[in-house]
Amino acid sequence: MSPLKDHRIPRDQGEPLVYPLDEPPQFGEVQEVTEGILWLRMPLIFDLNHINLYLLRDGDGWAILDTGLNTSMVRGMWEKVLDETLAGAPISRVIVTHYHPDHLGLAGWLCERTGAPLVMTGMEMMLARFLMATGRDAVPDHVLSFYREAGFDDDQLDFVRNMGYGNYSRMVSALPENYLRFRAGDKLTIGTREFDIRVGSGHSPEHACLYSYVDGILIAGDQMLPRITSNISVYPAEDRANPLKDWLDSLVAMKQLPVDTLVLPAHNEPFLGLHKRSDEMIDGHIRRLKSVHEMTKKGCAATDAFPALFKRKLKGFDLIMGLGESVAHLHYLEDIGLVERERAGDVSIFHASGKFDEMDVRLRIWSE
Ligand SMILES: [Zn+2]
Repeated sequence: MSPLKDHRIPRDQGEPLVYPLDEPPQFGEVQEVTEGILWLRMPLIFDLNHINLYLLRDGDGWAILDTGLNTSMVRGMWEKVLDETLAGAPISRVIVTHYHPDHLGLAGWLCERTGAPLVMTGMEMMLARFLMATGRDAVPDHVLSFYREAGFDDDQLDFVRNMGYGNYSRMVSALPENYLRFRAGDKLTIGTREFDIRVGSGHSPEHACLYSYVDGILIAGDQMLPRITSNISVYPAEDRANPLKDWLDSLVAMKQLPVDTLVLPAHNEPFLGLHKRSDEMIDGHIRRLKSVHEMTKKGCAATDAFPALFKRKLKGFDLIMGLGESVAHLHYLEDIGLVERERAGDVSIFHASGKFDEMDVRLRIWSE
């Protein structure tokens, strides 16, 4: 497939999403998006079977954006990309959007192999370092208390125990001792392009996106995905957090970018329709908040709210991810005064304490 010559077709913000590069590259192979930007796809070992990485022309070499999971298969594919696809050209830097293992997994290995520095935001780096250091065999009590409080039964708690603790370091190669920090508002010149660093939160604390005003291109990581939704979870390490508020704020902020921005996401395919997709995701969360609020009318634990959020019965790791999302929606409702928490033994039961007025919730999202 030939690269895009010009994606800047005038668009209306309500138009359906368009995928101008419909065929994704094979695993370990690249496809040119536009001059100086290559789309590289690597396999994942989850239900979601791929991640998109990007290579950005940087002088006589390339900058790498996101890295893939630390598995021998992905390392093998990277060897081929570095030696054959890029013909041994120098790697100028390894830029990572956020700390999740599919993005940061091979950053340390790539920096070691190529001599390139790692570039990240501070919070993502510190969180990665913290998680790398918290490997131990037994699951700590506060983790079990978190899941018990959310309504897990004995079998589900056994699953948490058997999952172990500190799995992060198994999926992420050793991080370099030092790194280059960027933050919201910084400018990053990569080759002939200047990118603004835009930061979102909610999926991870300080998630970086790279935006080129001249090209109208946003490299979005997990902040903006066209076909699936990013996981927005409360975790035991910060058990009273309200990440959904941060996420909704970030989605609203996305609409400051022009309607015709080409989004290069970390999953699915590059697309046009940033405003439409932001609206869809905000509407989706409002719908879910409303359904969860409905469940709280008869009092519910976080696990009782699953039917309001998921069509299928959750098992295994999906149960952990789903629980995090359920707690996130309940915490949002609690924060805006629509539910109250009551302790029943070890479990938190949420009760509706106000009427869900959709317009009021919408105004709150847009005005903050
Ligand atoms: Zn992620």
